[in-house]
Amino acid sequence: MSDTFDLETLAVRAGTQRSQFNEHSEAIFLTSSFVFDSAAQAADRFGGQEPGNIYSRFTNPTVTMLQDRLAALEGAEFCVATSSGMSAILACVMGLLSAGDHIVASRSIFGTTVQLFGNILKRFGVETTFVPLADLAAWQQAVQPNTKLFFVETPSNPLTEVCDIAALADIAHQSGAWLAVDNCFCTPMLQRPLDLGADIVIHSATKYLDGQGRVLGGAVLGSKQLMEGVYGFLRTAGPTLSAFNAWVILKGLETLKIRMDAHSCNALELAQWLEAQPWVERVYYPGLPSHTQHQLAMKQQKTGGGIVAFDVRGGKEAAWRLVDATRMVSITANLGDTKTTITHPATTTHSRVTAEARAAAGIGDGLLRVAVGLESVADIKTDLARGLS
Ligand SMILES: *Cc1c(COP(=O)(O)O)cnc(C)c1O
Repeated sequence: MSDTFDLETLAVRAGTQRSQFNEHSEAIFLTSSFVFDSAAQAADRFGGQEPGNIYSRFTNPTVTMLQDRLAALEGAEFCVATSSGMSAILACVMGLLSAGDHIVASRSIFGTTVQLFGNILKRFGVETTFVPLADLAAWQQAVQPNTKLFFVETPSNPLTEVCDIAALADIAHQSGAWLAVDNCFCTPMLQRPLDLGADIVIHSATKYLDGQGRVLGGAVLGSKQLMEGVYGFLRTAGPTLSAFNAWVILKGLETLKIRMDAHSCNALELAQWLEAQPWVERVYYPGLPSHTQHQLAMKQQKTGGGIVAFDVRGGKEAAWRLVDATRMVSITANLGDTKTTITHPATTTHSRVTAEARAAAGIGDGLLRVAVGLESVADIKTDLARGLS
């Protein structure tokens, strides 16, 4: 379908397979294994001579529908669904890298990804160098003869810094490395990294793809050849997505376009309003002309997305007062939900980072991150203004 239909159509229809009952809505196949007609057929399935399902750690029809739909949306040849965003990143690295290989990663990636690369993979002989995401010369300088993978998230969390994907892909390819982009914040509705030259797209489907804060899930997308390695790890090691979660995310995708548009509209309006508040020192949102990389962001993303960060005057005390005075907005770390969420990065997601490192990364004590939901933006403003009014 992917060549002939628009993204909103693909989100609703791509990948659908019907069973013998001709159900209209996609079915959930809650079964761990699949039955063969004969010993010969079992042998052929296991031997790969006959395509078809064998066991749900390998493939499951509901999971396959999600993989095919997501592949169509990202413009990828193949998608491997996983049990969470973190297992997607793990499967990507375990499927494609070996001991002795090297990763160059943005230092502004999801905190758990920093732990995975910096601590766990290091124990298995894969080293990572962290660089400032927008500094292309730093990426170039970090390259070693054994560099296999560049890893970036754009826009970044929480400061919404943007990385030039096309330029970074060029540097990666000149260095003989693959570029992986964690596209969690934009989703394919706002940004398609493979079109810009990236080799691999990673998703935490837990966020906008589900979009309603219900289940964990993840995905790795790219060429058939690269995904063969990732799938090989998945079917052997087993961080497989459950059929139920795949179905929830599949249904989430059907409304992805209208949700991303609405999240973006609300976020832009909130960012503009925050910029006009005397108690706000600075707003970070790629959709605002005041964002230092506004032009680049608008070139590679359709909108500024749904995440807004801002510094309040008065540091931690003022920031906590704002958080504690909310009555509607949820004090929680999740994002990409219909419900607006607020976090104080310095004392939560980035509390394990030293104060100096936080300051160097621009994460001050007065910084707050809002993942703007689908409530009325007037109600979100009222809720945020309460604590500091
Ligand atoms: C949440 C998140 C992850 C990890 O996803 P899980 O589904 O929680 O494992 C990875 N990258 C980004 C950008 C995230 O926001």
